[in-house]
Amino acid sequence: MHHVPRDTGWIEVICGPMFSGKTEELIRRLKRAQIARQRVQVFKPGIDDRYAAGSIVSHSAQQLASQSISRAEQVLAMVHPETEVVGIDEVQFLEGDVVGVCETLADAGCRVVVAGLDQDYTGKPFEPMPVLLALAEYITKQLAICVRCGNPAGRSQRLVAEGTRVVVGAAESYEARCRSCHSQPVEQLSLPGTRRA
Ligand code: ADP
Ligand code: ZN
Repeated sequence: MHHVPRDTGWIEVICGPMFSGKTEELIRRLKRAQIARQRVQVFKPGIDDRYAAGSIVSHSAQQLASQSISRAEQVLAMVHPETEVVGIDEVQFLEGDVVGVCETLADAGCRVVVAGLDQDYTGKPFEPMPVLLALAEYITKQLAICVRCGNPAGRSQRLVAEGTRVVVGAAESYEARCRSCHSQPVEQLSLPGTRRA
């Protein structure tokens, strides 16, 4: 961002597959805001308490203190009036009106920085990310490295046989794959012979 807006709020979205550095990038932006002595609050879904209850933690072990919530609306109740920057990690796991909450905060003058998966493990858009991407002022799409072939990877391959969209547990249950190396569950394939894994 070359021009930092003044006297207004806005929404930044950081998206991509697992292992693409979304949490690292969120932590980087929020730590810089803290260095600039801005008042920052960080939230994450309590469902993601697997590494640390009071912090967001990247796969590269970077951390930042956070508050756990289950519904997006809790952010509005917990944000202090003087908070200038609100960060939310794993935003696709939050219940409730995530889009409305981000819009309310940005309209009230907050810089809102959210990170989350843009696709589920089958490669389908993961709500509410498509709408957030449409409404945000700034969007960043990150790619991981495909563990099969080394190409840039935009998808998250599930390694365990579970049909539910959310499997908590989780880094060991997924790996980053590119379009060619990603294989969808059999029932998701529309064309015979397209499975390449
Ligand atoms: P995300 O939030 O997108 O899941 P993180 O910020 O938690 O990603 O972690 C990114 C880090 O994960 C990278 O800096 C790297 O150290 C590690 N990593 C592990 N596997 C991969 C991979 N296949 N591609 C890229 N980074 C990976
Ligand atoms: Zn690949």
